[in-house]
Amino acid sequence: MIEKQTKSIFINGEWRPLEDGKQTDVVNPATLEKISEVSYGGRQEAEEAIQAASKAFSTWSEMSGRERSKILYKSYELMMEDVDRLAAILTTEQGKPLAEAKGEITGAAQSLLWYAEEASRAYGEWIPSSVSSKRMLVIPSPVGVVGAITPWNFPTSMITRKLGPALAAGCTIVLKPATVTPLSAVEVVKIFERAGMPKGVVNLVTGNSKEIGEAMLSSNVVRMITFTGSTNVGKYLMREGSNQLKKLSLELGGHAPIIVCKDADLEKAATLSLTSTFRNSGQTCICANRLYVDASVAEEFAHILKTKVDALQVGSGLEEGTNLGPLINEDAQTKVQAHVEDAVSKGAKVVSGGKKWEGTLDGYFYEPTVLSDVTDDMVVMSEETFGPLIPIQTFSDEEEAIRKANDSEYGLAAYVFTEKTKTALRVSEQLDYGIIGVNDVTPSVAEAPFGGIKQSGNGKEGGHHGMEEFLEQKFISIGID
Ligand code: ADP
Repeated sequence: MIEKQTKSIFINGEWRPLEDGKQTDVVNPATLEKISEVSYGGRQEAEEAIQAASKAFSTWSEMSGRERSKILYKSYELMMEDVDRLAAILTTEQGKPLAEAKGEITGAAQSLLWYAEEASRAYGEWIPSSVSSKRMLVIPSPVGVVGAITPWNFPTSMITRKLGPALAAGCTIVLKPATVTPLSAVEVVKIFERAGMPKGVVNLVTGNSKEIGEAMLSSNVVRMITFTGSTNVGKYLMREGSNQLKKLSLELGGHAPIIVCKDADLEKAATLSLTSTFRNSGQTCICANRLYVDASVAEEFAHILKTKVDALQVGSGLEEGTNLGPLINEDAQTKVQAHVEDAVSKGAKVVSGGKKWEGTLDGYFYEPTVLSDVTDDMVVMSEETFGPLIPIQTFSDEEEAIRKANDSEYGLAAYVFTEKTKTALRVSEQLDYGIIGVNDVTPSVAEAPFGGIKQSGNGKEGGHHGMEEFLEQKFISIGID
């Protein structure tokens, strides 16, 4: 199914052959087996891709929204026709259970569908002038060439969430996917190619992150960088991008709290807390990182939670029944272990898990882990673990819960479980986060804005807000005297 060598550099409508000495291995994180070899490009390829995107810009941006829409819609159809195969590739290079991978591909296709629809709806404005001698209008125009840098945790949907709106707006693209998950990116680009995307509109460069990033940052042709990844790299891009005042959209780290109120449906709250915490083995930027439970229901909730956690199956994502696949690499596994050890050394108790999974596979697995008796000085309470670990604390009143939940440098997602509408609204309004899930832990959809505040970044993906990121509002003032 996956070829031993995969061409992964696509510039101006051509797949570059693999060059000796300029390739890198793709490894299955569940088995540590080599799956394929892909091209390892750098500054030169990135610069060529930028030139191609620049050349294609006038053609693409001058096409009508309706024409761009047709290609996006065709891409959506092609992706939906191929969900099973694409999901198997995704799981093989990234590790997540197949059911989650299928969910990701379907979600990725939804972004293409949504922005196929939005492509024809970039409306402008007519502004009533304060003087009778002028007419004023505002027209949305595409930002230009966009550099898209995407992560490995959602190697397909993070691409369509950026490229869908950018392409709908009329921008052309240089895409740099994460080094460890290039195969899913190649598949997305092949879909665009088959859908009839004109040459140079979407270009793909895999390889040296720093060099490709530098080429994007130093080029005055690349007008915007859209990035999902770590806060450190996001800050670096912002710093370096400031030389040219580059437009940036940054989806960075998070440290999501869950608040379980005393009137919550505890069964539902426990099930969804697990979904949030252990989805993609905890490697999701909106994963729950801290669980705050009303003290009056804490014991009952912890009991329900433990029973459910202990029933979770760890293993290869390709095996039926697996709930948690491997972590992406050894560093990720070491980080979870370090967070557990730090917490235990400061007095936390291990309710479930607490160690590397000792199964039959060589990959980077970690048991789903729950900690109690947690205090705020423990690293896990402030640093993103990006692994299958959740600490539980109790609270005695709503004010305390909100204060604790907001005590973070991050501001991406927060969750609250309550059966009372007024509690839901009151708490949601006070939570300092870009996305709030009320009795809902999967708030990432094509039709609504997704994005953080504080050190979780800026800009939105999804909904009409997501497309606005890729549009400049051009004001035209016409004297009619
Ligand atoms: P993670 O820790 O989740 O891998 P990163 O921020 O390191 O997050 O990676 C997210 C994306 O950013 C990946 O595509 C990665 O290759 C890319 N990246 C990492 N460092 C740089 C850099 N200096 N310049 C540009 N892109 C980078």
